[in-house]
Amino acid sequence: MTDAATRQMQFLFQLRQRGVTDTRVLGAMEKVDRGAFVRGHFEPRAYEDMPLPIACGQTISQPSVVGLMTQALKVEPRDTVLEIGTGSGYQAAVLSHLARRVYTIDRHRDLVREAEDRFTAMGLHNVTAICADGCFGLPDQAPFDRILVTAAAEDPPGPLLAQLKPGGVMVLPVGQSDAVQHLIKVTRTPVGLEYEELLPVRFVPLVEGLARD
Ligand code: SAH
Repeated sequence: MTDAATRQMQFLFQLRQRGVTDTRVLGAMEKVDRGAFVRGHFEPRAYEDMPLPIACGQTISQPSVVGLMTQALKVEPRDTVLEIGTGSGYQAAVLSHLARRVYTIDRHRDLVREAEDRFTAMGLHNVTAICADGCFGLPDQAPFDRILVTAAAEDPPGPLLAQLKPGGVMVLPVGQSDAVQHLIKVTRTPVGLEYEELLPVRFVPLVEGLARD
C-alpha cells in the first residue's frame, strides 16, 4: 500500500472511532484531501484529528467534528446548503459531495479567494464562496434545506433561522467564545423550531461585520 493509502485508511479509521459512522459522510470525507486545505508548517499534521491554524488567525476544524456536524445535518442529494464560516473551504468541499448546491460565506476576503481557488482546482463546481457577513445569511438564495455554522454565536442568529425551509435543519455551535460551547441541531417542524443539544465543542467566534484585511 502507498503512504497516501495508509494515511487515508488511518484517517477514516480515526473518524469511525470518534463516532462518524454515516457511510455517505465517510465517503465524502474520503474524497476530500484535507492536506490540500492546510498550508506550510502544519501541512504534515493535516491527517491528524486536530484543529489547525489557517490564514487570518482562523482555524480549520478537527476532522471528527467536521464529520459529526455533517452527519447531524443529514444532507440529502437534492439539498441546497448554506455554510457560514468558509475558513479553508474544507467543510464546504465535504458538503459539495453530499448536496446539490453549496453556498459558503466568510467575512475574510482572502480566505474566500483561497477557498475558491481550491474548489476550482478540485473541480468542485457546485460550491460558491462569498465574502459577506454570515450573520445575515444569504437572502438572495434563501431559503435553504440545510444550514451549517462553523463559528460560535451566543444564540442562533435570527436571519439564519428565518432562512431555513420547512423541514430544514441547522447545526451550529452556541456559547461564549472563551468557554465550552455546545453543538446544537435546530429543526424547523410544522409546529415550530425544535432544538437538540449534541456535543461540547470549541470554535472561533462568529464576528459581526466584514473583516478589514
Ligand atoms: N469551516 C471552516 C472552518 C471555519 S473557522 C473550514 O472547514 O476550514 C470559522 C470561520 O468563520 C473563520 O474563517 C471566520 O472568518 C468565519 N466567520 C466568523 N464570523 C463570521 C461572520 N459573521 N460571517 C462570515 N464568516 C465568519
